[in-house]
This record gives sequence, structure tokens and C-alpha cells, in this order.
Amino acid sequence: MIIGVLALQGAVAEHIRSIELAGGQGVAVKKVEQLAEIDGLIIPGGESTTIGKLMRKYGFIDAIREYAGQGNPVFGTCAGLIVLADRLEGAEEPHLRLMDMTVARNAFGRQRESFETDLNVKGIDTPLRAVFIRAPLIKEVGDSVEVLSEYQGEIVTARQGNLLASSYHPELTDDYRLHELFIRMAQERGQTHVGR
Ligand code: GLN
Repeated sequence: MIIGVLALQGAVAEHIRSIELAGGQGVAVKKVEQLAEIDGLIIPGGESTTIGKLMRKYGFIDAIREYAGQGNPVFGTCAGLIVLADRLEGAEEPHLRLMDMTVARNAFGRQRESFETDLNVKGIDTPLRAVFIRAPLIKEVGDSVEVLSEYQGEIVTARQGNLLASSYHPELTDDYRLHELFIRMAQERGQTHVGR
């Protein structure tokens, strides 16, 4: 499976490394035309306002909405999760408005800006190592969203059909099982969809 990583800003090389460890082929996506060549797209962590601004500038908002609308898998991590959300807490404008959830940015406060923990994630048999950096939280989800993990009672991993989102950075450890899960989503899509 060829998995693209949106390469406008943020942790791109780290995701490509995890994709390859998980058995996929990783490519940096810098142009909308590249979406036609990939089996799944990861939107990395970084700074969501910057990523959103660059996505608008380079035509990625409509292109990714269309890509996801066709059933292609899209995975947002940290800032990427913020970018996927339909609703953001506060006065902020949402970006892709793809996933039926409300997200709060920088939700852990200054005391706990970054930390690592082991998380139970549905579909992964033993706890996953997760790195949180100025992480967002999913405050509320619609009926079609499946919660895959919680941390201290707050939602930090969720899936809605072909969309996957994590509050944390799964690409900063050697534990690449969430990337494996995403590659499986891309494989399932490949099997059910004729004539990509
Ligand atoms: N705090 C960042 C934001 O709001 C996200 C941080 C991250 O991606 N590690 O965009």
C-alpha cells in the first residue's frame, strides 16, 4: 500500500518511517495531483493553523474532502486530528470538516504540555505507546464515530468509516501498530472498491 503524508508542515519524515516499518510505502504529498497515486493519506502533527492555511493556499481543502468522500482512508494525528474535525471549540474556524466530532486544541494545559503513556486501543491487542505534545482532545462525537481509546476519561482515538484520528503522535515511537491498522483500512478499501 502506498500511503501519502501531507507534507506542508509538521512531522512528515517520522510518519514515513513508521509507514515503512509497518510494511507500507510512504511518500511525501506536496501537490494535490499526488492524491490520485496513494491508497491512504496521513495528515501529520504540527501546527493546525499553519497546516490549515497552507491547505487552503494549495487547494488541499476541496481535494482532500473529495478524496475522503470517495472512501479513501485519511488519518489525522494531533494537529491532523484538529484539521479533520467538523467542529472546534471556541471561535476557531474548522478546516476539512470531515469527521463528526468537536475538538478542543491544547487541551492538557501548560502543566502537562507533553508526556508519554501506554494506551488501550480497540483493535490493538496490548497497550500502544503514545506521545502527547500540546495535544487536542475529542470532546464530543456523532453517532457514526467509534471511540477507539480514552485517556483519563477523554477521547483520544476515534474512527468514522474511512477516517481515523489520534490526539497523540503515533509516529514518534517504534510502536507502529496504529500505522498497521491504517494500512489495513487501506487494504480493505482496495478489496471492496473496483477501479481505483
Ligand atoms: N497544539 C497544536 C495545534 O493546536 C497541535 C500540536 C501537535 O500537533 N503536536 O495545532
